[in-house]
Amino acid sequence: MPQHRDQAAHLLPTPCGRCGVDDVPRLVSMPPGSVHAIRAECAHCGRFVRWLPKPKGDEERAAQHEKARKYGPATTQQMALLERLGYDGPPPMSIQEASDLIQQLLAKKE
Ligand SMILES: [Zn+2]
Repeated sequence: MPQHRDQAAHLLPTPCGRCGVDDVPRLVSMPPGSVHAIRAECAHCGRFVRWLPKPKGDEERAAQHEKARKYGPATTQQMALLERLGYDGPPPMSIQEASDLIQQLLAKKE
Protein backbone atom coordinates (compact mmCIF):
# COMPACT_ATOMS: atom_id res chain seq x y z
CA MET A 1 0.00 0.00 0.00
CA PRO A 2 1.28 3.51 -0.80
CA GLN A 3 1.17 4.87 2.76
CA HIS A 4 3.35 1.99 3.83
CA ARG A 5 5.96 2.93 1.27
CA ASP A 6 5.86 6.52 2.54
CA GLN A 7 6.34 5.42 6.10
CA ALA A 8 9.13 3.09 5.11
CA ALA A 9 10.93 6.10 3.70
CA HIS A 10 11.09 7.56 7.21
CA LEU A 11 12.52 4.37 8.66
CA LEU A 12 16.24 4.07 8.42
CA PRO A 13 17.90 0.73 7.85
CA THR A 14 18.55 -0.77 11.26
CA PRO A 15 20.79 -3.73 11.94
CA CYS A 16 18.57 -6.51 13.22
CA GLY A 17 19.34 -7.63 16.77
CA ARG A 18 18.64 -11.25 15.90
CA CYS A 19 19.84 -11.93 12.36
CA GLY A 20 22.19 -8.96 12.01
CA VAL A 21 20.90 -7.91 8.58
CA ASP A 22 21.04 -4.13 8.12
CA ASP A 23 17.81 -3.33 6.31
CA VAL A 24 14.66 -1.16 6.38
CA PRO A 25 12.05 -2.89 8.52
CA ARG A 26 9.06 -4.49 6.84
CA LEU A 27 5.70 -2.92 7.76
CA VAL A 28 2.77 -5.15 8.61
CA SER A 29 -0.77 -3.80 8.99
CA MET A 30 -2.60 -4.87 12.11
CA PRO A 31 -6.29 -5.82 11.89
CA PRO A 32 -8.75 -2.91 12.37
CA GLY A 33 -9.41 -2.19 16.02
CA SER A 34 -5.91 -3.09 17.17
CA VAL A 35 -4.15 -0.74 19.56
CA HIS A 36 -1.30 -0.34 17.10
CA ALA A 37 -1.90 0.16 13.41
CA ILE A 38 1.37 -0.98 11.93
CA ARG A 39 4.05 -3.33 13.17
CA ALA A 40 7.57 -2.79 11.90
CA GLU A 41 9.58 -5.98 11.86
CA CYS A 42 12.82 -7.28 10.42
CA ALA A 43 12.26 -8.05 6.75
CA HIS A 44 14.49 -11.08 7.03
CA CYS A 45 13.66 -12.90 10.25
CA GLY A 46 10.47 -11.13 11.35
CA ARG A 47 11.89 -9.84 14.67
CA PHE A 48 9.74 -7.06 16.15
CA VAL A 49 11.31 -3.60 15.70
CA ARG A 50 8.69 -1.03 16.73
CA TRP A 51 5.06 0.04 16.47
CA LEU A 52 4.06 2.77 14.07
CA PRO A 53 1.03 5.05 14.40
CA LYS A 54 -1.74 4.86 11.85
CA PRO A 55 -1.07 7.27 9.00
CA LYS A 56 -3.58 10.13 8.90
CA GLY A 57 -3.94 10.80 5.22
CA ASP A 58 -6.01 13.47 3.53
CA GLU A 59 -8.42 10.75 2.50
CA GLU A 60 -9.11 9.84 6.12
CA ARG A 61 -9.53 13.47 7.14
CA ALA A 62 -11.98 14.02 4.30
CA ALA A 63 -13.91 10.93 5.36
CA GLN A 64 -14.12 12.19 8.93
CA HIS A 65 -15.29 15.58 7.72
CA GLU A 66 -17.95 13.96 5.57
CA LYS A 67 -19.08 11.83 8.50
CA ALA A 68 -19.39 14.91 10.72
CA ARG A 69 -21.50 16.60 8.04
CA LYS A 70 -23.84 13.64 7.80
CA TYR A 71 -24.02 12.46 11.38
CA GLY A 72 -22.69 15.27 13.55
CA PRO A 73 -25.23 17.45 15.33
CA ALA A 74 -26.21 20.76 13.75
CA THR A 75 -23.97 23.62 14.87
CA THR A 76 -25.23 26.37 17.20
CA GLN A 77 -24.76 28.84 14.34
CA GLN A 78 -27.03 26.74 12.15
CA MET A 79 -29.64 26.51 14.92
CA ALA A 80 -29.51 30.29 15.44
CA LEU A 81 -29.88 30.88 11.72
CA LEU A 82 -32.85 28.51 11.52
CA GLU A 83 -34.50 30.33 14.39
CA ARG A 84 -33.93 33.68 12.69
CA LEU A 85 -35.48 32.26 9.51
CA GLY A 86 -38.58 31.33 11.49
CA TYR A 87 -38.06 27.58 11.46
CA ASP A 88 -40.29 25.85 14.03
CA GLY A 89 -40.20 22.21 12.97
CA PRO A 90 -38.36 19.35 14.62
CA PRO A 91 -34.67 20.08 15.26
CA PRO A 92 -32.38 18.86 12.46
CA MET A 93 -30.39 15.76 13.37
CA SER A 94 -27.28 16.56 11.36
CA ILE A 95 -25.24 19.36 9.88
CA GLN A 96 -26.37 18.20 6.44
CA GLU A 97 -30.03 18.27 7.44
CA ALA A 98 -29.70 21.72 9.02
CA SER A 99 -27.96 22.95 5.90
CA ASP A 100 -30.78 21.64 3.69
CA LEU A 101 -33.41 23.30 5.90
CA ILE A 102 -31.58 26.62 5.77
CA GLN A 103 -31.41 26.38 1.98
CA GLN A 104 -35.15 25.67 1.79
CA LEU A 105 -36.06 28.55 4.11
CA LEU A 106 -33.80 30.95 2.23
CA ALA A 107 -35.35 29.85 -1.07
CA LYS A 108 -38.85 30.44 0.33
CA LYS A 109 -37.91 33.95 1.38
CA GLU A 110 -36.97 34.98 -2.13
ZN1 LIG B 1 16.33 -10.06 11.49
